[in-house]
Amino acid sequence: MAPEKMTICIVLDANYPELVLDVGKVTLGEKNRKKMKDSQLRKKQNESLSKCVITLLNSGGGISKIEIENEDYSYEKDGIGLDLEHSLADMVPIVHKYFDFMKQGKYFLIFVKSWSSKIPGMKIATLSSNLYKRDITSVNVMNATVALEFLKDRVETRERFSLTSKSSSKRCREETEESSTKALASDFFNRTQLRYREKLTFTESTYVEIKDFSTQKLLQRIKEILPQYVSAFANTRGGYLFVGLSEKKQEVIGFKAEKSDLDKIEREIEKCISELPVYHFCMEKKKINYLCKFLEVYDEESLCGYVCMLKIEPFCCAVFAKKPDSWHVKDNQVKQLSVEEWVQLMMDPEPVPSEKVTYIPEILYKRLFSQHEGVAQLICKEMGSVHQGTLIFSKSWSLDLDLQENQSVICDALLISQDRPPVLYTFLRELNEELKGYSIQTALTLKKKLVKIGGYTGKVCVMTKIYCSEESSTLTEGSARLLHDSSLSATYPKSYTLITSQTMNDLKKALFIVLKSLGTLSDKFDSEIFQHLLSNQHGLLSEE
Ligand SMILES: [Zn+2]
Repeated sequence: MAPEKMTICIVLDANYPELVLDVGKVTLGEKNRKKMKDSQLRKKQNESLSKCVITLLNSGGGISKIEIENEDYSYEKDGIGLDLEHSLADMVPIVHKYFDFMKQGKYFLIFVKSWSSKIPGMKIATLSSNLYKRDITSVNVMNATVALEFLKDRVETRERFSLTSKSSSKRCREETEESSTKALASDFFNRTQLRYREKLTFTESTYVEIKDFSTQKLLQRIKEILPQYVSAFANTRGGYLFVGLSEKKQEVIGFKAEKSDLDKIEREIEKCISELPVYHFCMEKKKINYLCKFLEVYDEESLCGYVCMLKIEPFCCAVFAKKPDSWHVKDNQVKQLSVEEWVQLMMDPEPVPSEKVTYIPEILYKRLFSQHEGVAQLICKEMGSVHQGTLIFSKSWSLDLDLQENQSVICDALLISQDRPPVLYTFLRELNEELKGYSIQTALTLKKKLVKIGGYTGKVCVMTKIYCSEESSTLTEGSARLLHDSSLSATYPKSYTLITSQTMNDLKKALFIVLKSLGTLSDKFDSEIFQHLLSNQHGLLSEE
């Protein structure tokens, strides 16, 4: 398999306090996409966008930034394009719940809400599980729900096995109906040679797959289908793959090959199967058990070809055709999840937030106000237009969120109010353009934590507002300068900025969980946090 090279860049200096992923150039609009001559390019653009959106779903949400390839594009007149729409729709249960679209000049932005599934487990979005199953005569990839069910079932089976001794008598009785084709296939597998055009005594079933590949691309075709078939048979009940039989005519055909070709095919099959990713829930951690055999086909007395036969045993745990197609941002890079990470995220129970809290209300703001008069005045002015809300001070929100502290920061304050999206205020001792990034990073992390840890499931953005002192190291009202206000530079869809009393309460609740889980300071502020974040919210705690 060729390594997947898709250019997705994390845009760091955007005006949005968001994770912005650069998809690259994409042709937009149904007509324009249909007209595209290069179908490979069309597919690539679609894949790039899908990967980007999945990454954002799994990384706390953000923005997919598309550079519009075609000139004179109009979102209203041209739409997005059906193939892209289908890809987006396949990722989430309800499109408008997760995505908002906006054209901005030569860019097309897709606002992606963080993934939140009501289904227990399934904490990530996945393009393809790459776990296959055998459904009677066809091989199908499991969708996320089926994959989760399958994995859970495997865990239970492991537990059952470890509790009771292996009794196979019951199993045999259950399988009597289809086991006849299995027995016939097994007899066939144990033959020593075959006759050309000999009639088959069995047909395709859960246990049997027949392929009649032309010799020219034999090896290539085997390599193409093998991962899926081995995954499917191993994950279901095991089975046989026969290459060189005609399913249509129900007879032995065979393919022409030299002895050396057969060795090569066998080596390639071994390599291919050994490279399949597996996940074990068991202690034994066995390898995929299979047998590969070639049978000579004779026409009268002369050798006229071969049949390749694979017997794949049922696997104890899970076999993937390749790593699941699911990505996230890790260490500031878009990375594909490993099989281990993916299975664990799919199966993990909800995290239990810790009891400690990092929130300093009254003591901190009183001290801050007495030391920094300017901060007090600015805050009072800012809060003048807020009807209802909670302002949570911290010496450094950044530090509270496990990010790096910056000495230029006097304090941060997070406003959660009903009439606007959350605003992160930062007050700086000095005029420093670079600290814009600090604030944006903090807001981005906060948003991510609200959804990832706090369990906030709505659309949300965290605005940033930075004040700094222009002259001296003390911030006074006179020296204060508004360095940055993201509400002026970042335009969001309406659904992101509409904060009702319900969303405000949800946000507070999420923040409470985040602070609880991050706790690094003493417990003595607990009761204050309770009051501040949870006042007038009866029954909120009892929900937990
Ligand atoms: Zn196992």
